[in-house]
Amino acid sequence: MVLTRLIYISTLSPTCDTHTLDDILAISRKHNQQNHLTGLLSHNNKYFLQCLEGSREAVNSTYNRILDDERHDNVQILYFQEIHTRAFGDWSMGDIPESYLTALINLQFSSTPDFNPYEMSGESAFQMLLELKQRLPSE
Ligand code: FAD
Repeated sequence: MVLTRLIYISTLSPTCDTHTLDDILAISRKHNQQNHLTGLLSHNNKYFLQCLEGSREAVNSTYNRILDDERHDNVQILYFQEIHTRAFGDWSMGDIPESYLTALINLQFSSTPDFNPYEMSGESAFQMLLELKQRLPSE
């Protein structure tokens, strides 16, 4: 089994509200536990930034399902790498809402104080998630 990390970004569909986000997190946690996937999902009211870690097969099949999901669009891969250890092994899908994405954190990892992952490199996105996980309780 080859352990893999994938980070992608996307744009919330206009109908995506907090109820939809709760649904996404619930189904993600259920499937990810079954597939031994771990990761984080950060989001504001415009964008998603998600990291998935696990076997290459599970990461790819889950990503392919996510691609077809009409609750978001403009999905772009920022980062795909074979890894030795998981960075986010404590979360089947950790939730990082807007309140965690402070201007200071955004400015540290991108060119503006706003959360806009389309303006970030894959490495910056990964480093930002590492920073954010320090503030996140384990599941
Ligand atoms: P169902 O939940 O029954 O869904 C069947 C189909 O309907 C799918 O095509 C689904 O995309 C669509 N659908 C379901 N609910 C809605 C709705 N309210 N509005 C519009 N379409 C809907 N899944 C994971 O397994 N792991 C993840 O980490 C993960 N992360 C995600 C992150 C984001 C940003 C998004 C948008 C989705 C994510 N998903 C994740 C969900 C994934 O896209 C699939 O919906 C889910 O895995 C399919 O579950 P299911 O087979 O039980 O089908």
